[in-house]
Amino acid sequence: MSEDTLRGDGRKFDELRPIKIEAGVLKRADGSAYVEMGGNKILASVYGPRSTYMRRFLRPDTGVIRVRYNMAPFSVDDRKRPGPDRRSIEISKIAEDALRPALLLESFPNSMVEVSIEVIEAEGGTRCAGITAAAVALADAGVPMKDIPVGCAAGKMDDKVVLDLSEIEDKEGQADVPIVILPRTEEITLLQADGNLTEDEFEEALDLAIGGCQQIAEYQRKALKARYGE
Ligand code: UDP
Repeated sequence: MSEDTLRGDGRKFDELRPIKIEAGVLKRADGSAYVEMGGNKILASVYGPRSTYMRRFLRPDTGVIRVRYNMAPFSVDDRKRPGPDRRSIEISKIAEDALRPALLLESFPNSMVEVSIEVIEAEGGTRCAGITAAAVALADAGVPMKDIPVGCAAGKMDDKVVLDLSEIEDKEGQADVPIVILPRTEEITLLQADGNLTEDEFEEALDLAIGGCQQIAEYQRKALKARYGE
């Protein structure tokens, strides 16, 4: 694939899928957000910070964050068995680690922020889009934050480094590098790499993914501005 060859879905190598982000879409949660990224449809909700019946998770020195990533049975081609599996437990854990550095949880000892990421339709890159949605839901809930985390992947397809892999590209491609950053400082709070990349390709993928994150961060800000004004 040369730089000007278009990908299977007509995108350029450095082009994101179409994005839509909306903040405050649920009435009962403290904070919520809806994200569409290509064929992904993801709803995130936040409760807290508040005391919880899960007292064994609470800490006297700081607040804690718990994330539950879940795929609806109808979100993928082959019906997904409801309930947690190894993959969703892993994604829940990495989402907690990716979001925590942005939160000022020290002000909320003995309390918990509960985040739920519900994948309604999946089309590749749900961990990044889910964390992007969760970050907007956290801001919508008014949880004090130093930045709004944002996620995006780059990867390798037909020996070319490309931005924001679709499901087909993820399955047929040679590598996938999902990241989450804090856009102000570009501190990386999640970095995973699956597949084979040379050192140069890895650097290229990282740069591309950071650029993608910065573009998506603009949509996050617009969604929050649309809800709360400047
Ligand atoms: N997928 C699926 N069934 C599953 C899990 C994943 O069809 O049980 C699809 C879904 O479209 C997902 C893609 O495979 O987005 C890639 O999954 P991966 O584990 O790489 O995570 P993601 O890219 O969604 O973060």
